[in-house]
Amino acid sequence: MVKINSRIQQVVGSTTLAITARAKELKENGADVVNFAAGEPDFDTPDYIKEAAIKAINTGFTKYTPSSGAEDLRVAICQKLKRDNGLDYKPAQIVVGCGAKHSIFNAVMVLCDAGEEVIIPAPYWVSYPEMVKIAGAVPVFIQTTKAAHFKITAAQLSAAITPRTKLLILNSPSNPTGMVYTKKELEQIAEVCVKHNIYVISDDIYEKLLYCDEPFVSIGSLGKDIFDRTITVNGVSKAYSMTGWRIGYAAGPSEIMNYMKNLQDHSTSNPTSISQKAALAALNAPEDAVILMRKEFKARRDLMMSLLDGIPNVSYIKPDGAFYFFCDFSKFGPCAELAKKILNDVNVAVIPGDGFGAEGFLRLTFSTSQERIREGLSRIKSWIGAHA
Ligand code: PMP
Ligand code: GLU
Repeated sequence: MVKINSRIQQVVGSTTLAITARAKELKENGADVVNFAAGEPDFDTPDYIKEAAIKAINTGFTKYTPSSGAEDLRVAICQKLKRDNGLDYKPAQIVVGCGAKHSIFNAVMVLCDAGEEVIIPAPYWVSYPEMVKIAGAVPVFIQTTKAAHFKITAAQLSAAITPRTKLLILNSPSNPTGMVYTKKELEQIAEVCVKHNIYVISDDIYEKLLYCDEPFVSIGSLGKDIFDRTITVNGVSKAYSMTGWRIGYAAGPSEIMNYMKNLQDHSTSNPTSISQKAALAALNAPEDAVILMRKEFKARRDLMMSLLDGIPNVSYIKPDGAFYFFCDFSKFGPCAELAKKILNDVNVAVIPGDGFGAEGFLRLTFSTSQERIREGLSRIKSWIGAHA
């Protein structure tokens, strides 16, 4: 048997990607699957973005760019971060990656040494702990509760810190819970990070999908001390329905960003040149398409909420952002088995919470039409009725 790298041996495949692929496969084989599993917007990429990519091809923008991304895109990212988030970065502090996933991965690789600890609030997005393990670092989870709206407090953060703590990974709005940290909560978390000299990766990928009145706040905007310890990550996947184009970015202190550039120099080089032009068009245009998409997501969220309310023994906390409901199905047994049964018995794909560090929960995405949401929840309701 081949001896595999010991760090890679510990890595488990992505539950989200595996179930999404399984749902697609069933559908292609003719099954009438309702897909509440996918972690991507179901809308098409807007035409003006596609046209920018076609123009890039036709005008020969098809060669290597600097590995950290073309200058015009890095300028546009700086303008976006200033305009939307009040963050002051220079183009040299931006590294464009092949999706926010890649940017987070590279930031973790650059910051973390073997044995250092990375604090991850649970439930978490499936990829964070695996990235930390690949770096040889140690994920340390702060378990949140439904009662606390799945958010960590500054006191919990303080209690989790040890001399080995290097980094906190924060994601608001959150995948899988849809929770959003308020400015005040972020200020308290920032204070602890500054006090203990801990770095923060702020995963802002769901920034534009917010359904509450409070504005989005990125933790790095809360003062110079926290800004100097923050790597802000964002991308175009969720805001502009561009998941397949693979463009994300990181912004942070120059020293860290130089190392991230070096890492890309010797691994991926630049993200696809054509996608970079598409991302540039996305960031520089008015946000009409984003506003329409957000409006539809909000209507779907409200619909899903009213339908979930009609299912006995299932509870949830209203999501204020992203496109996920993280539902408590703990009355129905282990969630991995439950998700399998629901898929096999009534053809509804959902993601079990154990992959996100929360047994007893199922993640339901509202990234499908209102008609399919009605159909899927009616099937789940019948299934629950038959198994109560
Ligand atoms: N962070 C979170 C929390 C996500 O849900 C995703 C979705 N895959 C990503 C980062 C990465 O997005 P992408 O690589 O498509 O930009
Ligand atoms: N982030 C999405 C999800 O959680 C896409 C899949 C992935 O990259 O994990 O479903």
